[in-house]
Amino acid sequence: MATDEEKQTTTFKTLGICDELVDACQKLGWTVPTPIQVESMPSALDGKDLIALAQTGSGKTGAFALPILQELINSPQAFFACVLSPTRELAIQIAEQFQALGSEIGVKCAVLVGGVDMVQQSINLAKRPHVVVATPGRLMDHLSNTKGFSLRSLKYLVLDEADRLLNEDFEKSIDEILNVIPRDRRTYLFSATMTKKVKKLQRACLRNPVKIEVASKYSTVDTLNQQYRFLPAKYKECYLVYILTEKCQCTTMVFTRTCDATQLLALMLRNLGIRAIPISGHMTQSKRLGALNMFKAGECNVLICTDVASRGLDIPSVDMVINYDIPTNSKDYIHRVGRTARAGRYGVAISLVNQYELEWYIQIEKLIDKKLPEFPAEEDEVLLLFERVKEAKRLALQKIKDGGGKKRKGEKYGEEEDIEKYFGHKGGKSKKFKAR
Ligand code: AMP
Repeated sequence: MATDEEKQTTTFKTLGICDELVDACQKLGWTVPTPIQVESMPSALDGKDLIALAQTGSGKTGAFALPILQELINSPQAFFACVLSPTRELAIQIAEQFQALGSEIGVKCAVLVGGVDMVQQSINLAKRPHVVVATPGRLMDHLSNTKGFSLRSLKYLVLDEADRLLNEDFEKSIDEILNVIPRDRRTYLFSATMTKKVKKLQRACLRNPVKIEVASKYSTVDTLNQQYRFLPAKYKECYLVYILTEKCQCTTMVFTRTCDATQLLALMLRNLGIRAIPISGHMTQSKRLGALNMFKAGECNVLICTDVASRGLDIPSVDMVINYDIPTNSKDYIHRVGRTARAGRYGVAISLVNQYELEWYIQIEKLIDKKLPEFPAEEDEVLLLFERVKEAKRLALQKIKDGGGKKRKGEKYGEEEDIEKYFGHKGGKSKKFKAR
């Protein structure tokens, strides 16, 4: 393990990264490696398997992408590496980082995720990419059905967000994938949390892995200012609006428990002139990407999401995370708040805790081993907003009843209307729902 002094003087170059890749890092503004990169790269470059526990936003992608690209330069070949991700958005982001880091060496990537046309993906596979980034189900689909595509010559397998990849949804596909790729390969497991299943997989498919842990298991970064507020359930929306109005310059992610809540809150906030947009697992892939892009481009500064967005999404400029609903699984808290204070930046996380969520909140404080300070606000001042918020919610519910409520059989809520239609115009501020 590197000492503090060594960490300060370590550069990508001293870690053994070649000039082309050092240049690519510099173009991305990566002047010094992050702790996970410092810890993992020497072993990775030495050809070892890795199991790495690192916080979200710690620079995990670079930690596995750079050694893979370096080895690719030494022995170029198609289907060199495969990275598995639990979500489509994360897969796309990983591929973007590979492309950016590999720009100098002309690396070719294919992204294989569900919700997107398989034919186009097959055409991309026919171009024989160096790196395939995929969600497990769609990768298996291509391995079974796309003529001429195999991973028989694979040299690297990466499981990103491994703890999540090992849940029931993916277990079968992962097993199938492990059966059709060579045993003689390097394997990297990256995970923010360590579960029994990760340990099991580690034993099953890693050979004498080097274990890397850059932070205590469930800690949050020091640059993150975490607060909570106890409040009666009926005032939650009011507090949310208060915080968003008070910190109106911030880019914010608001986490809810259900997909329906994302839609309702987004509409309610739009009614109050707040540029909010929902993203949830009930939206089609293109709509999810559309929402994410609007948020990244700054057209909307508040993203209302379920836990689908709590992992892996790289949105560098999120200033604040609001836990509108407290997660029932306290590890989800770590993932959610990991969306802010990334790569050394400052961030705020505020948890709104009602009387029914107290138990879950206590579990969170236990997990992070911290007593958090209270979000300071005068309740009287917050409640000045009560009537306006109530009316905005009424209008939102009415809108959903009139438009989004008419579900066709078998269709999920939110797939019926696209984001633009949902808000009455393309991007930006709603014309229908002006700020009052
Ligand atoms: P990740 O944990 O891979 O999602 O990375 C989080 C963010 O950190 C991304 O925006 C990366 O571009 C950025 N990042 C990764 N490595 C570095 C570095 N060495 N210096 C600065 N930013 C970095």
